[in-house]
Amino acid sequence: MAKLKLALYWAASCGGCEIAQLMIGDKILKLIEAADIVFWPVAIDAKYDDVEAMPAKSIDVCLFNGAIRNSEQEHMAKMLREKSKILIAYGACACRGGIPGLGNLHDRQSIFNTVYRDTVSTEKNGNIFPQTLFRVSEGDLTLPVFYDTVSTLNQVVDVEYYIPGCPPEEKTTWLALEALLEGKLPPKGTVISHNVKAVCDECSRKRDIKKIKKIYRNFEIIPDAETCLLELGLLCTGVATRGGCGALCPQVNMPCTGCYGPVEGVIDQGAHFLSAIASVIDSKDEEEIRTIINDVLDPVGTCYRYSLPDSLVRRASLK
Ligand code: SF4
Ligand code: SF4
Repeated sequence: MAKLKLALYWAASCGGCEIAQLMIGDKILKLIEAADIVFWPVAIDAKYDDVEAMPAKSIDVCLFNGAIRNSEQEHMAKMLREKSKILIAYGACACRGGIPGLGNLHDRQSIFNTVYRDTVSTEKNGNIFPQTLFRVSEGDLTLPVFYDTVSTLNQVVDVEYYIPGCPPEEKTTWLALEALLEGKLPPKGTVISHNVKAVCDECSRKRDIKKIKKIYRNFEIIPDAETCLLELGLLCTGVATRGGCGALCPQVNMPCTGCYGPVEGVIDQGAHFLSAIASVIDSKDEEEIRTIINDVLDPVGTCYRYSLPDSLVRRASLK
């Protein structure tokens, strides 16, 4: 039987997804028995021109991680779409925008001002920003265009499947790869994970009181090992997050931050979590509710940590 042709690529991401792909451990031997890796910039020496030269649909599967933040990433997403039969959004950034998606609270220039001009460690020698074109005697130097808005992969090209997580757990990656190798793929559009219900469904902590008078930041209290973190006043997004990871974070006393994305059928993970917070606040007094809610210091980062570009609002308005 002919081996599968597999490509892997990263766009706006941290590199964690590449490591997660290697976390399949010795199963990688099974993978390379069945598939040839034809493009993987982080690990093998292949150039963009090599991909350009490939016939359309000659790659069987491409695992694409990272959001789309600049013109180079958009170009590669379009090229890999054209060359691949199956394109998989791998990890929270490709699926939902991820942490880079929080850049949608700002625009290109305000991000550049912070990074290249206003930080205390930047030399104050004028407004020096990256240029897309710089002419020197040897020729033209170019950089990709940095966009105002971060996009998910499926906002740029058509996507067959989604593998959630920041980064995806080894068992989630293998669930998808095994389905590929065995030719047992689910319907197009499926988010591949072990659970379509919420992280709470996999969490062993007890939920009963369902009411809180105060919201805490993680360092302010040491939770006991048994009570639901949300009921202790820690903003655990497990209720609004797709399961499949095995409730890894609550198991070690850390609230879930939402990396597996919304539960099946929910289109806005942050709105779902906001409604969960509202339902546990123990007060009918508007002033007291305001005081409790004011302890949420970063509402967007709390509710939309991995999903702002994929949310109904998508970004802050551009001036
Ligand atoms: S809210 Fe968090 S701690 Fe509570 S049951 Fe759900 S996942 Fe567990
Ligand atoms: S508990 Fe939440 S944040 Fe932690 S790995 Fe699971 S989905 Fe991600």
